[in-house]
Amino acid sequence: MSAASADRYAVIGNPISHSKSPAIHMAFAEATGQNLTYTTIEGPLGQFAATVDRFRAEGGKGLNVTVPFKLDACAYATDLSESARAAGASNALKFEGDRCHAENFDGTGLVRDITHNLGQALAGRRVLLLGAGGATRGAILPILRETPALLFVANRTVDKATALVRDFHAGGANTKVLAGGGYDDLSQETFDVVINATSASLSAQLPPVPASALSPNGLAYDMVYGKGLTPFLRLAKDSGVRHLADGVGMLVEQAAEAFAWWRGVRPDTTEVIRRMTVPLV
Ligand code: NDP
Repeated sequence: MSAASADRYAVIGNPISHSKSPAIHMAFAEATGQNLTYTTIEGPLGQFAATVDRFRAEGGKGLNVTVPFKLDACAYATDLSESARAAGASNALKFEGDRCHAENFDGTGLVRDITHNLGQALAGRRVLLLGAGGATRGAILPILRETPALLFVANRTVDKATALVRDFHAGGANTKVLAGGGYDDLSQETFDVVINATSASLSAQLPPVPASALSPNGLAYDMVYGKGLTPFLRLAKDSGVRHLADGVGMLVEQAAEAFAWWRGVRPDTTEVIRRMTVPLV
């Protein structure tokens, strides 16, 4: 396969040097025999559209989008998927002629990791999402599609959680299934699946979730990856929660969704997840 004729993809963010996306996508390309290149673009702040225009003019076929450009990607696109529209953010773009299609695969990747890789059903279960930022926004519809008994969004800034939930209710989400509030609302509640979608783990902090909200037979999932046992996962482990996971599977699964969307072939994720997993110790 020749690099000259290869289709071009990249991930755009700022900063971007830490990104694992090139390694993931090149592993997928090798495993599926797809002729493509995948690089990083450090997008200058405030110049998202000009940078993407240049990439397209040079023949670029698609982009992954990460912090801080996920909202810009939505504004740039001509065609938004339901998940990108609901999240108000996009992490994957596909260019076809003068059209730019936007998707958000973070939530799909999360749900696939939980249900398929970790073997934990969401249907009929009580699910708690900690945080009310972009990651939570992207996770809500894919989780609701699994028909949980309850999806509660708890956030430090309570108004942000209630406003976010209200947006989804206005969009048709069931008010009996989707609810939101603060950490104080959790003192009498227990959940089967607790997902830490805050960025607290990045600075080794613990969101103020009471240990009593975690169920020993349930799953504690931290979206942050590669940090071993985060304070949240440590709390879960010390509380006897049997299933613990970080977000490496989510990262690889959202990449696989984008790859399938661009190339029409879904790569197997098992080996890539295994290689990238940092033990939870
Ligand atoms: P945002 O910046 O949009 O939101 C951050 C959220 O974290 C806010 O709700 C904020 O609360 C909360 N928060 C931050 N610090 C604390 C704290 N010490 N205690 C309690 N709450 C806190 O981030 P995103 O939603 O985009 O991402 C969240 C995390 O998910 C990131 O760490 C990111 O790395 C991870 N992620 C992982 C992915 C994967 O593929 N594995 C994909 C996408 C994201 P408040 O509103 O009160 O400030």
